[in-house]
Amino acid sequence: MNTDRAFQALIGLLHDIGKFRQRARWGQERRPHEEQGADWVAQRLAPRLKFLSPEDRQRLASAIRDHHGSPYDRDARALIAADRLASGERAPREEEEPGDPAREPLRALLPALRLPERTPHPAASGWGFGTAPLPGGTAEVEAWKAIFPQPIASIAPDYPGLWEGFEAALEALHPAIWETPEEALTALMALLRRFTWCVPAAAYRDEPDVSLYDHLRMTAALTVCLAELPEETLRRLEEKTRTGEFPEEPVALLIGGDLSGIQRFLYAISSEGAAKSLRGRSAYLALLADAAVEFLLRELDLPPTQVVYRSGGHFYLLAPLSARDRLPQLADRLDEILIQAHGGDLAIALDAVPLKARDFHLKEGGLPERWADLSARLGAQKSRRFRRSMARHYEILFGPFGGGGLRPRCEVCHAEEETGGPLARPVETRPDEGVAKCALCRSFEELGDDIARRSDFLILRPAQGALRGRLTWRTVLGALGVEFRFCDRRGLRDSFRPGDRVIRLHDGDLSPVEGVPVHDFRYLPAFTPMDRDGTIVELGEMAKSAKGTPAWACLRMDVDHLGRLFRYGLGARYSLSRVATLSHLIALFFEGYLRVLCRQVDPEARHLYLIYSGGDDLLTVGSWDRALELAFRAREDFRRFAADNPSVTLSGGISMHPEKFPLYQAAAEAGDHLEAAKGLRRADGRDKDAFGFFGLPMAWEDAEWVREWARELGRRIRPDDRDGPWLARGFLHRLMSIAGLLEEEVRLAGSERLGPEDLRRMVGLHRARWRLVYVLARQPKEVQPILQRLQEELLAEGGRRLRWLSPLARWVEWMTRGGSPD
Ligand SMILES: [Zn+2]
Repeated sequence: MNTDRAFQALIGLLHDIGKFRQRARWGQERRPHEEQGADWVAQRLAPRLKFLSPEDRQRLASAIRDHHGSPYDRDARALIAADRLASGERAPREEEEPGDPAREPLRALLPALRLPERTPHPAASGWGFGTAPLPGGTAEVEAWKAIFPQPIASIAPDYPGLWEGFEAALEALHPAIWETPEEALTALMALLRRFTWCVPAAAYRDEPDVSLYDHLRMTAALTVCLAELPEETLRRLEEKTRTGEFPEEPVALLIGGDLSGIQRFLYAISSEGAAKSLRGRSAYLALLADAAVEFLLRELDLPPTQVVYRSGGHFYLLAPLSARDRLPQLADRLDEILIQAHGGDLAIALDAVPLKARDFHLKEGGLPERWADLSARLGAQKSRRFRRSMARHYEILFGPFGGGGLRPRCEVCHAEEETGGPLARPVETRPDEGVAKCALCRSFEELGDDIARRSDFLILRPAQGALRGRLTWRTVLGALGVEFRFCDRRGLRDSFRPGDRVIRLHDGDLSPVEGVPVHDFRYLPAFTPMDRDGTIVELGEMAKSAKGTPAWACLRMDVDHLGRLFRYGLGARYSLSRVATLSHLIALFFEGYLRVLCRQVDPEARHLYLIYSGGDDLLTVGSWDRALELAFRAREDFRRFAADNPSVTLSGGISMHPEKFPLYQAAAEAGDHLEAAKGLRRADGRDKDAFGFFGLPMAWEDAEWVREWARELGRRIRPDDRDGPWLARGFLHRLMSIAGLLEEEVRLAGSERLGPEDLRRMVGLHRARWRLVYVLARQPKEVQPILQRLQEELLAEGGRRLRWLSPLARWVEWMTRGGSPD
């Protein structure tokens, strides 16, 4: 990597490290943060940075010391302007912080977001985070509490403890890490992420809701961009921003990437061996997006600080303006590789918009518009994707397909065998399987298996591959210049080679393992159900192991109005650092916490299969009862994660299926239920925040009601050969037939256009029916009070809940099927 850029990234990453130390040593050392930071870097860090000359090591400390002054050094000047842009402040305040920074926790952003049409959170700014490093390791559930906001009054920050942890972790790094700029920057960013994600940057009197981690990395990214500007532009920028003016001067490039074709790629496979293939396919998509980011960083010669965000198949990078000329060529290469490997099935849209200094201004800036502009461009590109490349690759995209049906086909992905040409895709049937699989599908199975068994570490190795030979996931990523390997603790030593980047999974501890350096940490949203013999449990098995009805389910969930939450939710506080903080947090929930939640719902890891979780959404398959439980738990926890903010909500959809049912159809059905939930509008106008299950979109508050009653009634249905005060199964059947009649009547009446009189009449009818069933069922005396309560709740509020009778009856029926009907 270009050492100049590495240097600029370093001063950006470290310029405010004194803020952290200052908080930790409050009351003992009252020196300005820039002095504390510079001294600490000069003593503790600079001597390790072997790739810097002795002069540069001095320059590093000086840039930090002078970042509120008027330095001569060009990089230090770029840093000052970058710091101002990253904070989006009108004018930097030179004075130290007011109040008591040692007691000030990081304010949580999610509770403070506000969609115009929703009720504001009553205590929007009253929530913050404790001072715990990012979770990982064995004490999972306990440790993950750290990412949930707490009332500010209940938080007692321990900055000395956090700082001590940071210094110890820095000391513990393998010394070889400091030898190259890539490795040093990667490890430094990982440590800062782990320990300063919860430290407020709060450089000024602004709300302390931006984490130091995000402020540091965004300042670093901008420093790299600004350092490249012509001298007169940089000078103008310095002068104007000093007095709070952000000029209309292009300063950086926001590059966006978007992986498309995900749905089709994941689900358009046969259910034969689907479970085995899915995990690998989903992991491959994440690795592919990662490889694309690595590819761009390498080709554009950018340090890792330039990645603003990457998760869920999307990524954003900040690059110097000069990168613009090279982008079309890089986009072509990406296209070419993906077309050769996947025909037209997968594509990465790549585009960029220039950002002007003025865009960063909190009040006058246009950052939300630039961001929206980029998303629109990426969307447009998806729809006319490959247009340019198509001409060159006409044959691959449009055939001639099929050699008269003579060539064997893969029974998983339906691709034809390919034996001629530079890329071979043989299709074989192994004697123990009886299913013909192509080389690519087989490689996905191996990847899924690796992740299920050996996912303690991920090794990232620069490669110089070409798209030749046998088509596997490794060949494709190799063509992008990266090799990935999963391994466990024992395998690490054998797999490691100098120059590799070692990423520890699920654990932020970066101390060396058996002498091997660890550079980074990451959460892998993997939860895989395993059989006793160590193979991945198939859908049919998950169906059989469900309680009650043998069925499996497909669950999809995502955050409501995410685009608008980002664009409007921050209001006048939209800054690059806040966007970074928000995306980082939401991704933590889906990439990190979801897996922990799956383990709570399915402790034996036999019923739930987290196929995909990242960005702001998730997809799980599993035994229907556990998948349903996961949906409710995920919603509860997401709500807690946003401290009950009415503007930040999650919707879901679930479809349930018998043992043999095609996965793509299940995924599509779950998607339809999710869409229906998103289309829900309450009487008061509030939309989404809903769950589509048992074929009905339902507000979560109603779904909770159904869940409570399903549990209540489920407990009381007569089990096999037991006497006592049970509800007979016949009761359930009557409930269901009433529900059926009701549905029919609603349909006939055209539920949208019922007048008050019609409603009253209908409710009357149902009441009569209900009484009828009540008498007919002649349930034991002991359960009468419960049935009475159910009846009252059903008929309350104008009989609004009568509609939920159908899902309720079906849920109880599903739960209890298998008991003896009487
Ligand atoms: Zn295949």
